[in-house]
Amino acid sequence: MSETLAGVAVVGSANLDLVVEVSRPPRVGETLLGRAGGRFPGGKGLNQAVAAARTGAATRFCGVVGADEAGAVLEAALTEAGVDAVLRRSASAPTGVAHVLAFDDGDNSILVAAGANGELTPEDAVAGIAGAAVVLAQLEVPFAAVAAALVAARGAGARTILNAAPAHEAAVALLPEVDVLVVNETECAELGGVERLLRAGAGAVVLTEGAAGVTLHRLGRPGAHVAAFRIDAVDTTGAGDAFCGALAAGLAQGQDIEHALVRACAAGAIVARHRGATTPALSVAALEALVAGR
Ligand code: ADP
Repeated sequence: MSETLAGVAVVGSANLDLVVEVSRPPRVGETLLGRAGGRFPGGKGLNQAVAAARTGAATRFCGVVGADEAGAVLEAALTEAGVDAVLRRSASAPTGVAHVLAFDDGDNSILVAAGANGELTPEDAVAGIAGAAVVLAQLEVPFAAVAAALVAARGAGARTILNAAPAHEAAVALLPEVDVLVVNETECAELGGVERLLRAGAGAVVLTEGAAGVTLHRLGRPGAHVAAFRIDAVDTTGAGDAFCGALAAGLAQGQDIEHALVRACAAGAIVARHRGATTPALSVAALEALVAGR
């Protein structure tokens, strides 16, 4: 008899985001004084796992961090959000770090050192997804690990979601293993457009369009648009990650994709109207209140 599959497994990156508020970028050779803007858990994988847990799914996160204080901070953040953190500690690489320069005009520049994220192996990924009903991955960790997770998930009868971010041409070869591909407009254009992605084998392409919402594309059917929720956006960082996590949670809870997309839009909107990518304001109650008020 086949094993019962349940919950969401996220295979991906975890970073510590270090924010410095500053008027402008430093010039080469210059030391510029900024203001400490705080440090926050981040990385697309971690953000999406936190969102899946906060929107009601039993969620596991599989990733690699360093044997350092930053790794302990990320593990605590995952655990506090209710995620089962399956973290391997690298013996040699430090925890991934994102240096965020937040400029006074609202723009930012981000420099990422992947560190231990670069050591995620196919073996880590395959072990991490065992038993999950829905497997969600992004492209901030080695491609071989993502490919192994998706193939193993398919083999076990799980649903697979790939958020092709950052966009990478190699992802196209993986699409026959992908039930739902999530891309924003930039990523979709970089990968050659919806039609190409469907023909390459993705079961569905979910194109996120920021404040305009999202469109579900499937071969041979007209696109189905879901409008975004109208909110006052404060900080849209992490809206896409919240969207992906909530979509995975909805599918793991047995919702059909149209219903799961509405809830995913609500999750994106809740994160966009708060500061930070993993705001505690994201909850099942907040999501249901927003959906009910539509
Ligand atoms: P990314 O952050 O990956 O570029 P998007 O900006 O497309 O992704 O956002 C993902 C989803 O989050 C959107 O499809 C939408 O549902 C929601 N969202 C993002 N920004 C807003 C906004 N300003 N107002 C309402 N919903 C938003």
